[in-house]
Amino acid sequence: MTTAGPADLTQNAVCVLACRDCGTRQTLDPVFCRNCGSTALAWVKIGGNGRIYATTTIHRAPTPAFRPLVPYTLALVDLEGGARIMGHCAPGLAIGNAVHATICDAAGVTLMRFVSAGETR
Ligand SMILES: [Zn+2]
Repeated sequence: MTTAGPADLTQNAVCVLACRDCGTRQTLDPVFCRNCGSTALAWVKIGGNGRIYATTTIHRAPTPAFRPLVPYTLALVDLEGGARIMGHCAPGLAIGNAVHATICDAAGVTLMRFVSAGETR
């Protein structure tokens, strides 16, 4: 696994790396803890609820597979479990909105997608 991603979203859970020495949650897939430098990292499930920290709209697809999706919105979300994670975002959501993680299939891959906290898809 190279990035944090959905673990079991039927249970509203997302996987992130947690430092066994200081507890700091890591997104992406670091070799060592960004807080204390420990290499004792382990995958843990945290809840998929959070608030949008930032959004951006993508107008230029990073690969040909994403061209049918543009424009689309990406969001950085502060999850209640202590991690900030990036995912696709339903249109119309803004900074500060309460959201939860879902998954969707697009561009031939499974993507994490954040929707308004009251929605299921
Ligand atoms: Zn640490």
